[in-house]
Amino acid sequence: MPTVDVLIVGAGSAGLFLLGALVRKGISALLLESKALGFGQTTSSQGILHAGVKYSLGGLAGDDATEAAAAAALWSKMLSGEGTDLREVCTMADHCYLWRTAGIAGAAGMLGAKVALRTRPEPVSLAARPAWLKHVAGEVLTLAESVIDPRSLLHVLAQRHVGRIALGEVRSVTQRDGLQRIEIAGAHPVTIHARQLILTAGAGNQALSQLAGSACEMQRRPLRQAMIRGPLEMAFGHCIDGAKTRITMTSDRMPSGDVVWHIGGQVAEDGPSMSPEKFQAHVIAELRSVLPKVNLERCSFASYAVDRAEPRTVDGRRPPRAFSHTSGGVTTVWPVKLVLSPVIAAEIAASIAANEDPAVRWPREMPLPELAQRPWEAATTSWSSIA
Ligand SMILES: Cc1cc2nc3c(=O)[nH]c(=O)nc-3n(C[C@H](O)[C@H](O)[C@H](O)COP(=O)(O)OP(=O)(O)OC[C@H]3O[C@@H](n4cnc5c(N)ncnc54)[C@H](O)[C@@H]3O)c2cc1C
Repeated sequence: MPTVDVLIVGAGSAGLFLLGALVRKGISALLLESKALGFGQTTSSQGILHAGVKYSLGGLAGDDATEAAAAAALWSKMLSGEGTDLREVCTMADHCYLWRTAGIAGAAGMLGAKVALRTRPEPVSLAARPAWLKHVAGEVLTLAESVIDPRSLLHVLAQRHVGRIALGEVRSVTQRDGLQRIEIAGAHPVTIHARQLILTAGAGNQALSQLAGSACEMQRRPLRQAMIRGPLEMAFGHCIDGAKTRITMTSDRMPSGDVVWHIGGQVAEDGPSMSPEKFQAHVIAELRSVLPKVNLERCSFASYAVDRAEPRTVDGRRPPRAFSHTSGGVTTVWPVKLVLSPVIAAEIAASIAANEDPAVRWPREMPLPELAQRPWEAATTSWSSIA
């Protein structure tokens, strides 16, 4: 194969935004995926285009909240067709609700949110609340955070670059004469030379960076996300308690007509240390506590484990911002948040020059990876009814 400027490995939100940014600049770039588009974090993501609330509440109302707010502004442009045109991406909600638990800690958390956010949450009158929030005792606010369907994002980004994305597995990486020589195994083995190798493989980055001789330390933060499906309303929002987001809810409609609530936040962080049965009881108790009178009749419950993959931090907490590190022609990238993927992609693209032929494509025989399923679509998910 001819030499390319960049080979990207890993087709989640980071790799796909980066491919688009490089191609727009006339850089010759190809993307390799070993499983399915967005497998791992992007298709597990809740798709919230955070405007900074969680970070502000965590006492980190500094740079990262600013970065998230700037990224949210960029998304709003892209969703209206400016820059990377994302008009075809499915927007599930154009705002989230913010509510609190009745205690003092909840009130303090809400105050933090109002003070720290650039986009001020707006109070919602009792009459204007959706039915699922009618029985909440405290104040309810709307927050200008849109929610997108991450799978439709992957589809929109990938369909523009058919021929530049292929299924395969990196077997070896060696450096010679300033080029990366990458051997690719799969249905159609091939060897490719790239001026730069960029790893956007999420949890796969650690092994790949070792293979490429550029060890970048990674941390995993385990989560257990909950899913409740049944005759429910679509619901999007965060329940705040002190400095914590007690639960974060997003929703999707299943082909059967049922709605599925996808639940993260503090409960998802509590989950990995619990048995599946204890976790189910914990989530239901939390839901009944933060949404009094919630009706879960004819609903069923399931959960799944997923890790957030990030650069290692000294204290093991979430890194403050999107990460990229380059050494010896190998760049390792963790966007840390879906919402930050286009931001880090633009930064990286700005640092690369075009030298090779931008028309280079993968050999025709190399298959295009499929889209990864969302967790509630997977046939292997086991649902149990809620008593
Ligand atoms: C439960 C959950 C909820 C989240 N909610 C939000 C949210 O609401 N808003 C937000 O902004 N962020 C959210 N995030 C964070 C966000 O999802 C991630 O930061 C982002 O999607 C990471 O994208 P990525 O492309 O780096 O990684 P991934 O999405 O993990 O993609 C990595 C890709 O690389 C591929 N790959 C792995 N190994 C190899 C290999 N050896 N060779 C080739 N390919 C490989 C994988 O198959 C995959 O396709 C959430 C994360 C989780 C886990």
